[in-house]
Amino acid sequence: MTLILDGKLVSKQIREEVAEDVQLLIKQGVTPKLTVVLVGDDAASQIYVKSKERACAKAGIISETIKYPSDVLKQNVIDKIKELNNDNSVHGILVQLPLPEGFNESEIIELIAPEKDVDGFHPINSGRLTSGINDDYFVPATPAGIIEILKRYKIEIPGKHVVIVGRSSIVGKPAGMLFLRHGNEGDATVTFCHSKTKNLPDITKTADILVAATGKPKLITADMVKPGVVVIDVGINRIPSKYSEKGYKIVGDVDFDEVSKLASAITPVPGGIGPMTIAMLLKNTLRAVTVFGKKE
Ligand code: NDP
Repeated sequence: MTLILDGKLVSKQIREEVAEDVQLLIKQGVTPKLTVVLVGDDAASQIYVKSKERACAKAGIISETIKYPSDVLKQNVIDKIKELNNDNSVHGILVQLPLPEGFNESEIIELIAPEKDVDGFHPINSGRLTSGINDDYFVPATPAGIIEILKRYKIEIPGKHVVIVGRSSIVGKPAGMLFLRHGNEGDATVTFCHSKTKNLPDITKTADILVAATGKPKLITADMVKPGVVVIDVGINRIPSKYSEKGYKIVGDVDFDEVSKLASAITPVPGGIGPMTIAMLLKNTLRAVTVFGKKE
């Protein structure tokens, strides 16, 4: 029987745990606050920001979204981030990506104070994750969600061959760095694949744990996996569907129907890594308060 790794269920548990911890902080006089900076009118970003706001509200975290039109002066955004860095009532700052044309995303991300960078995209945070020199960093929420769901389902990682298809700096690469860390949640042997990888199926077939983060609908098919593989599907892709009122449906990067027949465990899309990502963002916001100082 294939185990369905239920991200909705696990993320609910995590959100409840966060909510309990938030109540303890509130009793100590600190209410965690997350500020999201949203530039432009990208439809998917608006939806993501709304769901982050809802999740924060349910967990007792104050959330604030600062919205700018896409033609805002870059300097206004820069000034706002600097102001938020110095605002002790704000514990976490997140700039919703993608930014409109004309913005250099890394320039903006590097302005965020690393101790408030709850997305974990600042080079200080990604550098600390990669170098392993200390634990004072934020892990990006999606890769953190991958490790957390495996942990909650007691799926062993040490010694496993983890193949990651996708090398983005927000998913593929940091996920690989987490699997590579020393300890029970890491100690894996990691292989990265990308669009220039030759013989992708030959490599994916050697995976004990296969992570797909490509943005290519149903790229991973049954002939690309070995029986018993654990599959983590990060992809969120819209494909046309005449059966849906909206005219589209959401699928992952894995052909779920076929691959799930061979896998020992698999995350569904939707309902897998998506909800885990938001739960881990809440955890990072809590960490911004508890690890990086109770400021108000
Ligand atoms: P990017 O577009 O930044 O990266 C995609 C990666 O996939 C690249 O490394 C690319 O290779 C690789 N790739 C593309 N096509 C192929 C192919 N045919 N064979 C092998 N590798 C390929 O995407 P993201 O990492 O940002 O996101 C990946 C997916 O995850 C998307 O569907 C996105 O929507 C989803 N996502 C989901 C989240 C969630 O909360 N569940 C959060 C973030 C993303 P190359 O580097 O060579 O171009």
